[in-house]
Amino acid sequence: MNGHNLAPINASSLFFTPLPPSHIVPPGKESHGRYMLTIPWNRVSGWGQPKIGPRQDLSFDPLAGVLQYAVTCFEGMKCYKTEQGDLRLFRPKKNFDRLKRSASRLGLPSEWDNDELLELFAKLMALEAPLVPNTDGSNLYIRPTLLETSEGFGIKEDAFAAEALLYVVTTLNLGLGLYGSAEGEGKGIKLDACKEFIRAWPGGTGSYKLGANYGTVNISKKPGYAMSLWLHGQEDFISEAGAMNVFIIKQAEDGFLEFITMSLNNGIVLPGVTRESIIELLTEHAEGEKDFPIDGMPKKIRVVQRDISMPEIIKGVEDGTLKGMFGCGTGVVVVQVGEIRYQGTTYKIPSNPLIKIIRDTMTGIQRGKIDEGRDWSFKVPEWNPEGKEGQPEEEVTAA
Ligand SMILES: *Cc1c(COP(=O)(O)O)cnc(C)c1O
Repeated sequence: MNGHNLAPINASSLFFTPLPPSHIVPPGKESHGRYMLTIPWNRVSGWGQPKIGPRQDLSFDPLAGVLQYAVTCFEGMKCYKTEQGDLRLFRPKKNFDRLKRSASRLGLPSEWDNDELLELFAKLMALEAPLVPNTDGSNLYIRPTLLETSEGFGIKEDAFAAEALLYVVTTLNLGLGLYGSAEGEGKGIKLDACKEFIRAWPGGTGSYKLGANYGTVNISKKPGYAMSLWLHGQEDFISEAGAMNVFIIKQAEDGFLEFITMSLNNGIVLPGVTRESIIELLTEHAEGEKDFPIDGMPKKIRVVQRDISMPEIIKGVEDGTLKGMFGCGTGVVVVQVGEIRYQGTTYKIPSNPLIKIIRDTMTGIQRGKIDEGRDWSFKVPEWNPEGKEGQPEEEVTAA
């Protein structure tokens, strides 16, 4: 696939359909963005015309690869509004690159120019801007999705999709329920360490954002627990919690405070943008290259990427060397873990004020309040489509 004459994603050929004057939001969909961006693809001609128009149902053949074999991957991003009212995306090209990686794992198209996609994204955000409140914790959650629309069925010449669709929809405030709910003594989310369902294993797809990774383990969630803590291996190594990466804070023997998170080496852990950003901030702070953007982070810290097992966590709780634990991801940003239930016993995890410092730093950067000097915050340009930026609709030729 990916021959050389395939059309690229081309932002300047955008076709825009405004909401009809009579547009009303369907009941139950009030928190959803009103527009969607769609870009079709087929292996003969490449990417088709990008369109932004009213959000609507999709239709495919009942044998489409997405429906039969879960040939679908996605991203999770957020658009924030600053106190001044402008819109920001957080490191969006990291997500675009990760979508490419997921897509190529599934035989879906994985080549496009991130700048072109970002331009289209920015227009979608600009249209939804009135929906986004400019308060902490509020945001527009963005769900880019790429899936196989052609028949994914039977014996084929090769396993690559013949037709695919990339679309982007938005919804308000995902993660708000947990946002900031959990800081300080006796607080934090409850995790159920799950031995019954395994989310990811060596050689599996845990490090890709594929729909199939989530649908197959959703039923593990126990009432009263925010999410499952995923385990793997005989040793009961932890990998992630729900759809978040996790960090353990541990006192090391040499007096350093360690921020331990699972390494990406064995392909079990999803390479989170939040995880990576926290690692970068803490590492540069520890090395004295940059000061952590918020006061209060000690200098004698280090970031360690390695496996950590439930028995090690329990030992740390018992001997007092475990100094806290948090989850992180686009949805919740940073959330303190308060307790873990494992093999019938509940273990209380100590709280740590550094968790709030990390969260305030991340949200401060995301909402443009803290300038971290790295260009992580992308400012969405204003766009008013009244002035006919949209192109005429192209005729669609069948593949
Ligand atoms: C999306 C996701 C994360 C977090 O990634 P971010 O880029 O930080 O949002 C972590 N784990 C899993 C399983 C995920 O799906």
